[in-house]
Amino acid sequence: MTTALIYDPIFLEHLTPQGHPERPQRLEMAIKVLEALDWLKRDGLVLIPPRSATEDELALVHDHAYIQQVKAGADDVARKEQPGGATSRRFATDTYVSAQSYAAAIRAAGAPLTALDAIMQRQADNAYCLVRPPGHHALPNAAMGFCLFNNVAIAAQYALDHYEMERVMIIDYDVHHGNGTQDIFYTDPRVLYFSIHQAPFYPGTGHSDERGAGAGLGTTINVPLPASVGYEVYEPVFRQVMAHAADRFDPQLILVSTGFDAHWNDPLGQMNLSTAGFAQLSKIIIELAQTLCNGRLIMVQEGGYNLDAMGACVATCINLLLGDDAAVDSLGAGPDAEQGFHLNAEVLVAELRRIHKLTGYRMRNAPKPDVERLRREVKGPDA
Ligand SMILES: [Zn+2]
Repeated sequence: MTTALIYDPIFLEHLTPQGHPERPQRLEMAIKVLEALDWLKRDGLVLIPPRSATEDELALVHDHAYIQQVKAGADDVARKEQPGGATSRRFATDTYVSAQSYAAAIRAAGAPLTALDAIMQRQADNAYCLVRPPGHHALPNAAMGFCLFNNVAIAAQYALDHYEMERVMIIDYDVHHGNGTQDIFYTDPRVLYFSIHQAPFYPGTGHSDERGAGAGLGTTINVPLPASVGYEVYEPVFRQVMAHAADRFDPQLILVSTGFDAHWNDPLGQMNLSTAGFAQLSKIIIELAQTLCNGRLIMVQEGGYNLDAMGACVATCINLLLGDDAAVDSLGAGPDAEQGFHLNAEVLVAELRRIHKLTGYRMRNAPKPDVERLRREVKGPDA
């Protein structure tokens, strides 16, 4: 298995104010963990710097006027910055730009395009795009939720247009609903968008009755969950709803909005997933990609605001993409692992299957979960 890691230090130059959770240290920590494990030189891992997305590529999902607005916002900070300064300015509610933000954002948008090109040219089987700013809240004409350009949506549209794919699936397990991605493909039957997220929570969208519209009716699947649920609920939803929907849709490419803010230790999310839980969910996705689309899978970084959890989860995903099955984890299960909100997963799954007409359907090769095996730990550098 060859995995491409798409990363560029320019991502560290997109600055946010002191105390902002979406900060350069998130990616610095991920790189630090990979270095400590000596995994950047690992067999099968290829490091590929991302190209910048062109304005035409950004315009696959964004308005030209909005693209210019982001560029002008960054240029304006650069012009007024003192020599050696490192300032950022509010661009939209909670989203900031600094002098290098446009350069970072077009490289973040270019990362999954670079990944897809590498996969289609058979230089890699799958890829992890370690990028910021994140993307899944970005709308065609507006920034929100720390996001400037919708990296995953641009990649999905690029796959449809440039590689003439007919069916692309986006799986979003960030703790927040990816409202931007949903909006962009809401009426497009060629993109199946699946999101599992905390609700009620930011940004307030992603109800289970939001299922797409027009020709796209049925190709949006939302799974809103109350705070503090964990793996016991995520796992059956993944196996019995997400995987069935994927199997029925039969995608030619799977993109993942890979957010780790549903980790129990995350300061924004209030969910109860552990790194081992994320590993198991990611493994379900990897197996689906192998069964359905020759393993073509691109994970694109979204949220994740606890540095330790972020570093461990990134390293774990890369390990799984390379074909290993162990989680890198020095945090373990959360302190509330047993006291989490008890939701009747069977009732939830039955209701979701009814809403999305998944009745009478059985997943191909459905394996039994083997949690113990996944909890075998490779000690992280901080253990
Ligand atoms: Zn998030």
